[in-house]
Amino acid sequence: MDISYILNELGEDREHYFNAISPPIIQTSNFKVNRVDELRALFEDEYSGYLYSRGLNPTVEILRKKLAALDGAEDCLVFNSGAAAIFASVLANVKSGDHIVSVDKPYTWAQRMFDVVLPRFGVTTTYIDGTQIENFERAILPNTSVIYLESPNSWDYKLQDLKAVADLAKAENIITIIDNSYCTPLYQKPIELGIDIAMQTATKYISGHSDTIGGVLTGTKKMMKKIFDSEYLNIGSGIQPFNAWLLIRGLRTLQARLERITQTTHTVLSYLKQNKKVESVLFPLDESFSQYSLAKKQMSGACGLISFHVHAETRQQIVSFCESFKHIMMAVSWGGHESLILPKCASLKDEDFDPLNKEHRMLRLYVGLEEASYLISDIENAFEKTL
Ligand SMILES: *Cc1c(COP(=O)(O)O)cnc(C)c1O
Repeated sequence: MDISYILNELGEDREHYFNAISPPIIQTSNFKVNRVDELRALFEDEYSGYLYSRGLNPTVEILRKKLAALDGAEDCLVFNSGAAAIFASVLANVKSGDHIVSVDKPYTWAQRMFDVVLPRFGVTTTYIDGTQIENFERAILPNTSVIYLESPNSWDYKLQDLKAVADLAKAENIITIIDNSYCTPLYQKPIELGIDIAMQTATKYISGHSDTIGGVLTGTKKMMKKIFDSEYLNIGSGIQPFNAWLLIRGLRTLQARLERITQTTHTVLSYLKQNKKVESVLFPLDESFSQYSLAKKQMSGACGLISFHVHAETRQQIVSFCESFKHIMMAVSWGGHESLILPKCASLKDEDFDPLNKEHRMLRLYVGLEEASYLISDIENAFEKTL
């Protein structure tokens, strides 16, 4: 399907709302029915129509159609956060006594779920280095029901060979879930490679303006209905109509924003690579990246996030560096209009800093929509003052 059609028209029914270009926010909790039998049908299958906005809502429906099409998936559910989407996708596919194979160091709240929540219900997780397919083969147990992927991850961009993992999992009857937040469906289409459930946070690139939180699951209609009937309705973590409307608005410019960010990222990356105070850079579509050929094979783009290691003796030097930017802000998250810096050593105390440990000297830069020259002069100033 044409991406311009998806972003501008798909799912929209303008004749039903005064030919307004921008869709209405159907801010209602419930929907009226005319006949008792309609109610009975909705009680039997709430996925079949509008009953109550914890289930389906027309504004959310427009967003679901667009996001499903972007992923080349049959269906989609949108949650009130990426973390809620992760939680629902996993919970729907495990039962007490099951086992999960996850890539190591997945997104914080995925890891919390594996380490803290699921063990209370008798579900265990084995973490593996997902860069080698043999590690998946070795970790699978008779009770493995889910393989959890994140490719690339959002710090060191480690990849998994998605097609190889999907083929392996299918042969073993295991559900595969991927966190595709880094790429968005514009730059990687996991469903087309055979992955069962593609998750992405909508808070980052889909929203694009740092003004709302949301999360997305795509997959077969059968899988989405299974999640809707239990976790989605039961936890009540579906997205609210106004937030869905903000995400529809974000989608209008998704392609244009990513193209612009890609260009700027490459300019900033070249600057960082030639800077003597930078020891090394990490970016999946840079030739120096350890999994460059796999990245080129399964991703059609990469943008925004760059990690780099600086030369530094103390934590304080890195602290001063981060605190001396004039324009680039220090914050978590990414995907918005504004560029951001985040030092890995934020979670360390001064005395625990080890300059020989490269990870302690790692920073992550998110490149937003500003001019490249504006960002580079800010970075250059910070380097000159501190490192
Ligand atoms: C932000 C993020 C999430 C979680 O999304 P929220 O919308 O913040 O709940 C999941 N995975 C990755 C890689 C993220 O960066």
